Amino acid sequence: MFDAGLSRRGLFAAGAALAAGFVTAGCGVANGNSSDRILDPPRGAADPATAPARLPISGANPDAVAAKYAGRQPQAWGMDLDGIVTGFNATGKQFAITFDACGGPGNNDIDENLLAFLQAQQIPATLFLNKRWIDANPARAGQLANNPLFEIGNHGTAHCPLSVNGRAAYEIKGTASPQAAVDEVWGNHQRIIALTGHAPRFFRTGTAHYDDVAVSIVKDLGETPVGFSLNADYGATATSTQVQNNMLTAKPGGISLAHMHRPKAGTGAGMLASLPTLVANGFQFVHLP
Ligand SMILES: [Zn+2]
Repeated sequence: MFDAGLSRRGLFAAGAALAAGFVTAGCGVANGNSSDRILDPPRGAADPATAPARLPISGANPDAVAAKYAGRQPQAWGMDLDGIVTGFNATGKQFAITFDACGGPGNNDIDENLLAFLQAQQIPATLFLNKRWIDANPARAGQLANNPLFEIGNHGTAHCPLSVNGRAAYEIKGTASPQAAVDEVWGNHQRIIALTGHAPRFFRTGTAHYDDVAVSIVKDLGETPVGFSLNADYGATATSTQVQNNMLTAKPGGISLAHMHRPKAGTGAGMLASLPTLVANGFQFVHLP
């Protein structure tokens, strides 16, 4: 769980996200936390041009997973539960940047300036695409998926907090059963396979909230639940200066969360202003290990 200060920040960010019109029917936008769940060191991450690892199409059986967890009651809720990756063991000053594309009404745009900058600077990133965003931008999603600089992650089908009993985050109702949680993951899992030809390795819920049963469901479906250590843009509500200052707090082995579907937000300018400084300070951007 997170402390009171972080909780306050999250609530502030949620309120701002709501005010900004982020939230559409049922599901909304991700926000901040802090912790240090650790993965193994990155492999082959030294070369930014190295393509992310490819998973074969999963042999997971979604019906069996839903049946396995039927009737299970969750014991925990949050953004940094056991099993949610919020960092990795860095061998140097490696850092992973991630961008969510949340999709849905008003959230299907794309920050082309930010993506062009990442490409020009050869900065790898993991892009968590919601199914609604992919469906609104299929050609662009395909281009991004074909670029080895970017790894495509699963940001859910309807952008719901992942719950087995309907628990809400920021007044956004979560999935209400194990079957609904499976469907939220699997609908976009299948969509990404259709897009890329391989299964997504990583999953992040809409709002980044999970219960402990949902974390297990994601794993059983062959994906790794991902959180973050650095909330860079507060659901695309932060100013460019805030984003810049947030990014400059990056620590090796961290994972930043920001958004790529709000080109008029401060996110892009803040990233353009801060990432070169981090590179000058010796940071190396890597895919999630
Ligand atoms: Zn989102």
